[in-house]
Amino acid sequence: MVKIKVRACLRCKAYVVVKEGYKNQQAIKIFEKDHTGHNMGTLDYNEVKDKASGYESKTNFYMDKA
Ligand SMILES: [Zn+2]
Repeated sequence: MVKIKVRACLRCKAYVVVKEGYKNQQAIKIFEKDHTGHNMGTLDYNEVKDKASGYESKTNFYMDKA
């Protein structure tokens, strides 16, 4: 089973799913830039997918920006 990873801002409780490819790399770069100075971490998707976790996906938002 493949574990899906996300790049997350622990302060804002937002994340971008880590995928293959250049566009996703760019999306994560912009995401990290927007959260400069915040605590960032790489988490398992399982840790953030439920609403109860308090995390919100910004994947589409940043993929559109990339
Ligand atoms: Zn942040």
